[in-house]
Amino acid sequence: MGISDNRTSDSERIKILVVDDSRLLRLMMSDLLSANGYEVQTASNPFEAMDMVFYTFLPDLILMDIELGDEMDGIEAAKKILQKKDIPIIFLTAKTSPEIINRIKETTAYGYLEKKVSNEAIISAIEMALKLYRANSLASMFKYIFENAPNELLITDLQINKFITANNKARENLGYSEEEIKNLSPRDIAPEIIKSPIRELIQKLSDKKETSVTFKTYHLRKDKTTYPVQVELNMLDYLGKKLCVANVQDLTYQKVFEKKLAEKDYIIKLLTVFAFDAIVVINDEGKVVFWNPAAERIFGYSEKEIINQDVHRILAYNYEKAETLFKDYLDNFRKTGDLSFLENPIELTAKNKNGEKVFIELTLSPLKLNEKWHAVGIARDITERKKSQTEIENMWRIYYELAENAPVGILRCDNNGNIIYINNKVLEILGSPSEEVTKKINLLTFPHLVGYGFSAKLKECLKNNKTIIYEVFYKSIWGKEFWARVHIKPHIESGKVAGALIILDDITERKILEEKIKRQAIRLRRLSYTDDLTGAFNRRYLLKKLQEEIERVKRYGGSFSIILLDIDNFKRINDLYGHNIGDLTLKYVVKTIKERIRKADTLARWGGEEFIIFLPSTPVDKASILAETLRENISRITLPCPEKVTASFGVASYMEGDTIDSLIKRADDLMYRAKEKGKNCVLCQQDVDDLKYK
Ligand code: GH3
Ligand code: MG
Ligand code: MG
Repeated sequence: MGISDNRTSDSERIKILVVDDSRLLRLMMSDLLSANGYEVQTASNPFEAMDMVFYTFLPDLILMDIELGDEMDGIEAAKKILQKKDIPIIFLTAKTSPEIINRIKETTAYGYLEKKVSNEAIISAIEMALKLYRANSLASMFKYIFENAPNELLITDLQINKFITANNKARENLGYSEEEIKNLSPRDIAPEIIKSPIRELIQKLSDKKETSVTFKTYHLRKDKTTYPVQVELNMLDYLGKKLCVANVQDLTYQKVFEKKLAEKDYIIKLLTVFAFDAIVVINDEGKVVFWNPAAERIFGYSEKEIINQDVHRILAYNYEKAETLFKDYLDNFRKTGDLSFLENPIELTAKNKNGEKVFIELTLSPLKLNEKWHAVGIARDITERKKSQTEIENMWRIYYELAENAPVGILRCDNNGNIIYINNKVLEILGSPSEEVTKKINLLTFPHLVGYGFSAKLKECLKNNKTIIYEVFYKSIWGKEFWARVHIKPHIESGKVAGALIILDDITERKILEEKIKRQAIRLRRLSYTDDLTGAFNRRYLLKKLQEEIERVKRYGGSFSIILLDIDNFKRINDLYGHNIGDLTLKYVVKTIKERIRKADTLARWGGEEFIIFLPSTPVDKASILAETLRENISRITLPCPEKVTASFGVASYMEGDTIDSLIKRADDLMYRAKEKGKNCVLCQQDVDDLKYK
């Protein structure tokens, strides 16, 4: 909108387009207008004029001849131009009929000139048209601003106490049309303005004590709903009228925003109050500005005690160290809020109010508050976690030490038979040159281990989650021979077999000892039942056997016999050829008897050269036949000396009422009878009906 005045330079000169089909008139107008400081262009017909206006020459004013030929007259052309451009147009006409005047009025014309008027009249008409146009432009601009203002604007005529206008925003919010507004007075939409203290405020304005007043109240809409507002009133004298301009700001959203902000604030406060972690905000001087209840719980200081205190002086376990650390970076932090020198989160040792160590995990983040960098620290108490972690670590160390120095071999392998761990004792037991070499062995595939059956057992353990314990005599590939006790135990991780734990115990010494004990036990047992020299059973064993047999016969019936024999003239053999030959004679006799008797029979050495043979389930006649055979066989023994061996025999069978003593006595008596008879013969209890031998 060309509204500035006094243009002097070329570019600022007012442009006028003269449209006339008369060349002469165009020239005259051009001369006149140029002489008066205007920049002039001319068009000879309406089409040329429109072309210029729309594309090549935008004038500030158009002088338009009405009579422009048959196709389109000036009024039509003006209408077309005004549809697109807001340009003041003055019509030129030769004759002014009422019809033409009416048509001119239909357009927003800035007047008309008769072609015969004076130059002065033309210039003055142009000047007035331009002035009017400028005024109109300003008015429409103000109207535009008024209508589209972001605030609600209402203007009241104070004499009649009614609104004269309200802008779009006000009408929209209040719900009234332009016409409806004009019938309302301010108190219809702002009921509180007639009450104190707003009334007094407005009074000050009317009394001209203030040029503008501002207050908060509420506005009442057409639908009776209300909304909070802030109103600024200004007095205005306009064309002798006293007007009041109300600039109204709807506070609804501000209120909502404030409420939301308050809610947010509340939630944040709540979060910090109930937070499990300590939340601490420190300013750029390292002083505490925020401290939540968790911080109080963890460090022991109340909010009151710690606010504005140096956080490091109070909480750092090693203050000197913390101070140097802090000093190095504080300056930079102050300027940039940069905390990247810290690993985040960082594990720290702090101290609580009692001076005790508190392990914390600290997460720091920078926060700009009031143009200054602050650090927000979220600290988690990890003292318990640390404790159990150290306990676990210690425990592992103990286990490791134990395993390393265990008196048994310990191996761990994975599911594929690869050795994961091996202790020193294994190497020692196997005679292995190094851990490295041993670890190369795969426990499931190494032929030596497959050959010993170990691999199959390990496979079973891994497959069936089964513990297998066995003993084996083993020769390692490094030539070590030993007895081993092997435990193969599944190693479980997260509920699954993840390998095996193998305990290898060298039990060679124990095995040797066991063998020794076993042999000793056998010897002892034999000793306690047998005679050392001849290997025949001893007296104790015989008595036990006889006792058992007597009881058995007493209970179940049946019979048994004994043969008692004494070597004849044994003293002589000893005397003539020595004890060794005597001993040999005893051995030969035992050997000869053993060759004849049954497995179930028992030969025992009863005295020096006296033996008893116990014959279970044997009647006396059978015993007597055996005794005779034995006598003969003994007599055929050849000794390494020119002496013959003979023996005398007494054969007795169990009779009702017999005791061991009575039975043996009877056999002994019979044997003596045989000696008396001349030795080297058998006497049986049937052969003697002398009851005194009973
Ligand atoms: P008889 O024909 O009357 O039986 O005469 P005898 O010489 O056989 O009997 P006597 O009882 O006089 O002698 C038994 C001898 O047996 C006495 C003893 O030195 C000898 N004697 C006993 N036990 C052993 C032994 O274990 N070894 C040897 N070499 N001699 C033994
Ligand atoms: Mg004797
Ligand atoms: Mg004898």
